[in-house]
Order: sequence, then structure tokens, then C-alpha cells
Amino acid sequence: MTPVASTADAVPSDLTWCPGCGHRQAIDALVSALQRLEIPLSDTVVVTGMGCASLASFHLKTYGLHGLHGRALPLAIGVKAGNPRLSVIVISGDGDTGSIGLAHLLHAARRNYDLTYLILDNQSYGMTGGQPSATTPQAGREPLNLLSLALTAGGTFVAQSVAWDIGRTSAIIACALRHPGFSVVNILAPCPTFHRGDESAAVSDITPDGDGGLVAAISAAQSTNVTPVGVLYQTRRPPADLTELSTPQHQRSENESVIESIVAKHEIVWR
Ligand code: SF4
Repeated sequence: MTPVASTADAVPSDLTWCPGCGHRQAIDALVSALQRLEIPLSDTVVVTGMGCASLASFHLKTYGLHGLHGRALPLAIGVKAGNPRLSVIVISGDGDTGSIGLAHLLHAARRNYDLTYLILDNQSYGMTGGQPSATTPQAGREPLNLLSLALTAGGTFVAQSVAWDIGRTSAIIACALRHPGFSVVNILAPCPTFHRGDESAAVSDITPDGDGGLVAAISAAQSTNVTPVGVLYQTRRPPADLTELSTPQHQRSENESVIESIVAKHEIVWR
């Protein structure tokens, strides 16, 4: 096993994110949470979709799977079904989550898959030039409230943080990683190149963490005066049973030989 020893061990130095990108702060918070919980890199898989946030799977020395736009969740469910012992973390942007991937978020919350889902929400499509996303506040267009949607779909752990407060974000991610079931953390992460957002907006701590009930959590999620930060809601419900998705042993052996031939053909190097 490879323990998480330090941020330098877990994040390479050749990052391709713009200077000051909020995604870097969110990833520092994730690494700090993995350290805090002593979760080894070798037991962790980060699954991503498409967009700037999705580069996280390249920027972490965990196992990683960089998938298709909006499709990180089904891939992550497959990884978890294949090896339930792994900590499977999905990192997705607001574009990835709020549009093409939205149905996956709702069904994952409803089924309560045992995954940690981090939304790096910069309210724009950074990778393609800063176009508005479903969460961009715009005159005449109501931004999608991902927290509210996750709660009403049956989410058992729903939280929000701000990337520039790395300590608090790390603590919230650690709670999400410990949660048995589907945990969603929306992390407001400014895009200094195209959309800074409003970092001066009032931030309000949710206390006590997630104990106020579902109605209070939805009310906090829909607040227009302040940005709620903390665990809005958490409850216990059995996670989805993934045994129906697991591959029978004979099929698994066939799959492994196919994977080995792909690895050999494309000269894939395991880091
Ligand atoms: Fe970050 Fe925005 Fe640059 Fe993308 S375009 S890397 S979101 S600062």
C-alpha cells in the first residue's frame, strides 16, 4: 500500500490548470482529507468526466479514470462494483454535472451508491472559453440548484464548501468520504480566467452539521441571501447493492485478458 504522505506525494507539480484556479485548492483539500483519514493512494480511484475539473484524474497520484462528458458516475459505479473495497471518488464540473450528467446525479442519489461525488462548481464551461453553464446566475435564467436537486432525489449526504477555504473544505470532504452511501459535496471553485464568481458573497455555516432535517436542508440550499457552507443534510440508508452488477468469475478472467492485451498494445504505463 502507498500511504498518502504529503501533498507533494499526491499531486504532481506539472499542473495544467491556470494560475489561481479554484480547482487546485479543491484538490489540495481532497488530498488533505485523504491524509487525515489515512486512505492509501493505492486504494483510491478518481473518476472524472470532461472539462477543467476532470483534469483532476491526471493531477492526482491515485488510480484515475478520465471518461466521457457527463458519464463519470456510471463509470464510477462500475469501478465500485468491480472492487467494493476501493474508495471511489467522482470529480465533476458544473457543466459535466448540471447538463449532460444530471440524470446520473439524481439516480445515484436515489439509489445511494457508495461513492463520493465532488462537484467543482465554477459556474462556467472553463475549458471551452467560459460559456455559461446550468449553474451560472444570469438575468432571466434561473440557475440550477444542484444541492436542492440532490436532496429531493433522496441524497443521504449533501454538503457545500468554498474552495478558497481549504481547511473547511478538507473537513467536509473527510465527512463525505466516511459516509456509507452517496455523498455529494458542491465546491464553489472560482475560474479566474473566465468567471471569478462572487467570492465576497456572504458565507453562512450550517450548524449543527446536517442535523436539522430535510426541510431545513432544502431551505438552506435554496437561500438567496447567503452561500450555505457545511453539511446540509446527512442520514443513514443502506447503500445500493452492487452484487447484481458484479462480473462472474469466468467472465472476469476473460475481461482481464482483454484488458492486458489493451495495456500491452497501447503501452500503458501504471504510475
Ligand atoms: Fe481553471 Fe478556469 Fe483555467 Fe479552467 S479555464 S483551468 S477552470 S482557471
